[in-house]
Amino acid sequence: MSNTSPALGTPPAVARPLPATKAVSDAPPPVRTGHCQCGRISYQVSGVPDDPHLCSCAHETRISGGPAVLWVGFPLDSLIWTGPGGEPKWYATHPTLRRGFCPDCGTHLASVADGSSMVMVTGFSLTDQSGIEPLGHSHRENAAPWMRITLAPGPIVLMSDPRVAAIPVTGGPSA
Ligand SMILES: [Zn+2]
Ligand SMILES: [Zn+2]
Repeated sequence: MSNTSPALGTPPAVARPLPATKAVSDAPPPVRTGHCQCGRISYQVSGVPDDPHLCSCAHETRISGGPAVLWVGFPLDSLIWTGPGGEPKWYATHPTLRRGFCPDCGTHLASVADGSSMVMVTGFSLTDQSGIEPLGHSHRENAAPWMRITLAPGPIVLMSDPRVAAIPVTGGPSA
């Protein structure tokens, strides 16, 4: 992301509005934990969540069984496998990319590209899911067409979509 500030040599660090991504830059917890469904594989990462995004590529929709996977990056050297199962089982969907999953319950937890200093973890495997709202959507063109009603961000689509307008605003406080 190129933050181009006009002309002046030293841009003021104050006036940099980050729309709807406040939590990303707002002092995230330094350490986060995550785990698979059965608990055999768990992990710890630390640092500022990097590039939280959805992906709807053919590999991930098939592997996950869902319309998209939420990914968020952390420094690879912060990654520690903490569960009784140690490391996940790895499966390469590309020659240069491997994905880690629990061999017992099948939960997908991580993705590491060769040469990358980041590990991408699945957002929903994290215990603390604050500050990882997706900022983009990779392979959006492959997403299920109906998914646009739930995509983020998309205020214009949301407000103009009659199907969304038909959804009750709230189910009440105790729903
Ligand atoms: Zn498991
Ligand atoms: Zn993908």
